[in-house]
This record gives sequence, C-alpha cells and structure tokens, in this order.
Amino acid sequence: MSDCLFCKIAAGEIPSNKVYEDEQVYAFYDIDPQAPTHFLVIPKAHIGSCGEINGENAPVVAHIFEVISKVTHDLGITDFRVVSNCGEQAGQSVHHLHFHVLAGRDMTWPPG
Ligand code: IMP
Repeated sequence: MSDCLFCKIAAGEIPSNKVYEDEQVYAFYDIDPQAPTHFLVIPKAHIGSCGEINGENAPVVAHIFEVISKVTHDLGITDFRVVSNCGEQAGQSVHHLHFHVLAGRDMTWPPG
C-alpha cells in the first residue's frame, strides 16, 4: 500500500534499524522500545492485521514465527513475549500486520 508506514520501511524507503530480512519478511527494532529488546517482524506484502490472515496469506505468518525463533536464538534470547495488537481497542496503531517481540525484563500477565 502506497501510504503504509511499514510497507515503506520494508521497501527501504524509510530508514529503520534492521534485525533480519529475507524475500518475504522484514524485522526491525521498535522506535519506542517497551523492553530492553523490542523488535517488530512484518510481512513485506501488506496484510492489515491478524484479522486479515486467511488461507492464502497464512504461510507467511508461519514463516514469521520461524524468523522469530531464528532471530531470538541468534540474539541469545531464550525468554520473550510475542504480541500482535489487532484493532484500535487492542492497541494497534499501525495498520500493517506486525508481531512485537519483547525481551530482557520481567513481563506481567494479563497485559494492560
Ligand atoms: P502497534 O501499536 O501494536 O500497532 O505497534 C506499532 C509499533 O510501531 C509501536 O510499538 C511503535 O513504536 C512502532 N513504530 C512506529 N513507527 C515506527 C518506525 O518508524 N520505526 C520503528 N518502529 C515504529
């Protein structure tokens, strides 16, 4: 999508602090970290949110979780939380599917 912030980041049109990239997926550190380690993993192809995952685009979501496992392993992280906010009431502010990966501090449950 031409006006999507994360599409522009994935395309390299807006700078980011990259953690990982392949043909399908881009991962970069969050600009406003909520934990000592906080990065986002996104599909390069635009998907609005978890609410738009379907039979056609689900394989990239499975791949995202493979990437999360690889990147956390490479960073030496064993304990982490994966979060995806879907919709404004849940806290989604950028309407391009993304998975937050947070680590490096104690987490509380339930999340606020
Ligand atoms: P959401 O609120 O769950 O949609 O998460 C969006 C996340 O994107 C927030 O944690 C923001 O801090 C992060 N964010 C917004 N703009 C940028 C950027 O330009 N670079 C990196 N992270 C960003």
